[in-house]
Amino acid sequence: MKYAIPTPPIYTLAIADSDEAFPVNRVYCVGRNYAAHAREMGKDPDRDPPFFFMKPACAVVQADKKGIEISYPPMTKNFHHEVELVVTIAKGGKDIAVEDALAHVHGYAVGLDMTRRDLQLDARDKGRPWEFGKSFAQSAPIGPVSPVSKIGHLSNATISLTVNDQPRQSSDIDKLIWSVAESISYLSQYETLEPGDIIMTGTPEGVGAVVAGDVMHAHIDGLGEIIVKVAK
Ligand code: MN
Repeated sequence: MKYAIPTPPIYTLAIADSDEAFPVNRVYCVGRNYAAHAREMGKDPDRDPPFFFMKPACAVVQADKKGIEISYPPMTKNFHHEVELVVTIAKGGKDIAVEDALAHVHGYAVGLDMTRRDLQLDARDKGRPWEFGKSFAQSAPIGPVSPVSKIGHLSNATISLTVNDQPRQSSDIDKLIWSVAESISYLSQYETLEPGDIIMTGTPEGVGAVVAGDVMHAHIDGLGEIIVKVAK
């Protein structure tokens, strides 16, 4: 095959303690999946079915414990952090039963669903799509992936984020309204999952703004920490 233009790169995530990389296909994100965060966004945390939005694979940035830098994105004055448990999918499928769902998981990582909150809320209030608020370059810094073969599955683990060493977000992934298995099962009714898909499972309460020069430490027990600085 001769391509008419240069081919886009394959976006990847490092696998912890390995030379291998995880090729990123589609990035699905669960909205309002912790009750206290739903409340702080002005919504009732009732157990409505989960909802999803997407980011492009090119939004993924490899983060690590040594620290990376991301740009402050254009067209926003309210750039928010959302620390999230990230799930990588090894095996595709459709109509996956909840009890079978974890067999499709390749691994887990710490990630940030960085959000232009002003653009997201404006879109939300106007009934428009969220893409300008959620789906932009470098909006998904994600740490190395810990494979299930090494660490098993996570059912409870502290999830937290600090900005300039000040606590901002702290919760436990056992507070997810829709569990990892339930989210995979639900999503697979609407779209056949493919190897390389990843799911960002939603953020707990305490989201807030960062400005140029701020340093975020995001942590999930068992997955380690990533450090992400907002460039000056
Ligand atoms: Mn999110």
